[in-house]
Amino acid sequence: MAKSRFEYVRTYEQDGILLPNTYVVIRLDGRGFHRFSARYNFRKPNDKRALCLMNATAKQVMGQIPDVAGAYGQSDEYSFVLRRECRLFDRREAKLVSTFASTFTAHYQFLWPQYFPDTRLDGSMLPSFDARAVLYPSLREVRDYFSWRQADCHINNLYNTAFWTLVLGGGLSEHDAEQALMGTNSGDKNELLFSRFGINYNNEEAMFRKGTMLVRDVCSADPSSPESTDSRDVPDQHEKSKRQVEREEKARRKAEIVEMHVDIIGDEFWKNSARWIS
Ligand code: ATP
Ligand code: ATP
Ligand code: MG
Ligand code: MG
Ligand code: MG
Ligand code: MG
Ligand code: MG
Repeated sequence: MAKSRFEYVRTYEQDGILLPNTYVVIRLDGRGFHRFSARYNFRKPNDKRALCLMNATAKQVMGQIPDVAGAYGQSDEYSFVLRRECRLFDRREAKLVSTFASTFTAHYQFLWPQYFPDTRLDGSMLPSFDARAVLYPSLREVRDYFSWRQADCHINNLYNTAFWTLVLGGGLSEHDAEQALMGTNSGDKNELLFSRFGINYNNEEAMFRKGTMLVRDVCSADPSSPESTDSRDVPDQHEKSKRQVEREEKARRKAEIVEMHVDIIGDEFWKNSARWIS
């Protein structure tokens, strides 16, 4: 292609290549969802329709981008972890982050009517999501990352459940509910819910308490795929033949996406992690 004399401006672009052979976690978060959820009358403390919409959207993103090994969502956020070997967009950070944010936003809006059939989106307040990428050198940090997000889900959800129970069930003003919970620990909140309202927090919906984990079960598509073997036996990407790389990509596209609402902090969940991340 002929070059114009303006072409030089391209040299000002920054590459921003993410370090190879590391896990990339991309976290999206709804912009101004405190106001957004009020505008569209989300139920408090948890609007199940909104959470299911987030989950359905994340599954669409995983369907579009086979390099996503798994994802975790709660409230207005979703975190996607990419395979360590991912080479999408030559690992250019800006391309990855902006593609995730816009793909997620597009599907969220497209799916909205399925989850909120009686509420049309209003052009003056449309949902949008920010995104960032963080690199982690080993599965240890990836696991701790997901634990961090689930601990956040737990702390917020216990607080919000107690808060809205005091307001909606106890008739307190929002100010008084806030005062009542000031300085309480999680035992106090559990006790308050149980003794005053007969609510056993552990019986609240698992999706509310634990958030949602999505994993791409690669073994479901191709039990003989290298992902199903011990990760120490798997050759590096550059040692794999083109055919092998293509075969694995095909298996990822075909693989089932499994949704779970379980504890991801303890060891149990990670016992089978080789099925979806290596
Ligand atoms: P920012 O743009 O900085 O992220 P924000 O208003 O989105 O601001 P967050 O800390 O992300 O702030 O909090 C999201 C808020 O959205 C929650 O505090 C809650 O009020 C609301 N929200 C999100 N999902 C739901 C849901 N499923 N049900 C009820 N409320 C929700
Ligand atoms: P990448 O994902 O790398 O951006 P791309 O296929 O989007 O790949 P671009 O260099 O961005 O490549 O080019 C966009 C292409 O989209 C154009 O070359 C043209 O073929 C097509 N296109 C975009 N807008 C229009 C339009 N309004 N009318 C017709 N074709 C269009
Ligand atoms: Mg935020
Ligand atoms: Mg937000
Ligand atoms: Mg948030
Ligand atoms: Mg383009
Ligand atoms: Mg273009």
